[in-house]
Amino acid sequence: MAALSDGCSCPLREYCSGDRKSTHKGRSPPKAHEIAGPLLESLAMAEKRVGTISTWTEVADGLVIFQLMPQSGTAFPDYKAGQYIALTRENCKVTTKVKDADGRVHYDPAYNEDGSAKTRAVTHSYSIASAPFETKSTGALEIYVTLEKLGGGQFGRFTESLFQTTPHVGDTLGYVERIVGNFNLNQRAQGADQVVMVGTGTGLAPFVGMMKQVAHEARSGTPSNVKYTLIHANRTPAELGYDADLQKLRSESGEGFDFTYVRSVSRPTPADAYDPALCQGRANNLLRSLLGLPTREHELLDEARANDREVSAAQQAVDRSTTPLLGSGVDRETLKARMPAGRTTVLTCGNGELMEDIRRICQKAGFKFEMEEW
Ligand SMILES: Cc1cc2nc3c(=O)[nH]c(=O)nc-3n(C[C@H](O)[C@H](O)[C@H](O)COP(=O)(O)OP(=O)(O)OC[C@H]3O[C@@H](n4cnc5c(N)ncnc54)[C@H](O)[C@@H]3O)c2cc1C
Repeated sequence: MAALSDGCSCPLREYCSGDRKSTHKGRSPPKAHEIAGPLLESLAMAEKRVGTISTWTEVADGLVIFQLMPQSGTAFPDYKAGQYIALTRENCKVTTKVKDADGRVHYDPAYNEDGSAKTRAVTHSYSIASAPFETKSTGALEIYVTLEKLGGGQFGRFTESLFQTTPHVGDTLGYVERIVGNFNLNQRAQGADQVVMVGTGTGLAPFVGMMKQVAHEARSGTPSNVKYTLIHANRTPAELGYDADLQKLRSESGEGFDFTYVRSVSRPTPADAYDPALCQGRANNLLRSLLGLPTREHELLDEARANDREVSAAQQAVDRSTTPLLGSGVDRETLKARMPAGRTTVLTCGNGELMEDIRRICQKAGFKFEMEEW
């Protein structure tokens, strides 16, 4: 396999473009996609294939759910809900990291001598949002992806190439024929009575696959005793991907599949208050308010005051933040009862800063903490 990554010298460089701060470079402890030993060897041997996009559904501007069919004559490998796959696009614009005099970082496009944009292949990991039983029936994998905005009108290399190529249906996409990762219910929530999942933005993807699969297994005679609660937040209601599917799953909750879905928007409009099932605030702050903790912004302001530090930045963050608020139809005590200390495992995926706060909350509340870092 040809080396696809620039800026990364680790043994996985052929597998992902590791110049993103949240990839495997220089981190500890190991994250879900830091793969070593036999798995690394098997990845090196994994075949590169070319699949075809078979559906493309725009959830909101720059937010899409698509399905990928495997290379003709092949099937995707079996997988567990929550795992991920490496996808490749050949003609992605090369970007150069530039630091301004004031220390601000931005990414400029790189050009060839003739003035054309420099391109190369980029490979990134994507969580699978479909459930294994769905792939068995349709053959497709489902991916939930956001167009990465780098600021200054620039977009991420892989996602810009993916979003700008039209028509989307019929477009081809390279993939590594190996589905990997240990972010699945067996490995991360074994033995838990209560599982709380916190997904922000497209960080929802692995939880959609997990819940669809658990519901399917319950319907097929393998019930679960676990109580599952999913907290999903994005900026606006339109950006709550999979909202209808998750509400439907919630309506199916019962014997053998105990599932509650909490949806929240961090940039609410007055009209949002009319939806009794819609909460307000970022996912971490919503969880904090359920547990009787101050918002993260208030906590930082209190810390600044206690340490006699300058408070204006912390005060501005408080003023800008959305006060967490449960929808009028969401019962606080019922939700709290689904999160007993010592018997709750919290799984989280998405924004790194937010996941760090979920970790903090779990420490305070006595929950087991598990995350998938992107
Ligand atoms: C296990 C896993 C699962 C994931 N699942 C999903 C998913 O389901 N959905 C989803 O939307 N995303 C997912 N991601 C994130 C995804 O892999 C990509 O990182 C994301 O789509 C952005 O890719 P991009 O090429 O468009 O952006 P990039 O061009 O890679 O830009 C992303 C960031 O990389 C840095 N960067 C950009 N260019 C350079 C450069 N030249 N040098 C140094 N740094 C640079 C910047 O910090 C930038 O913000 C997942 C990641 C992992 C690790």
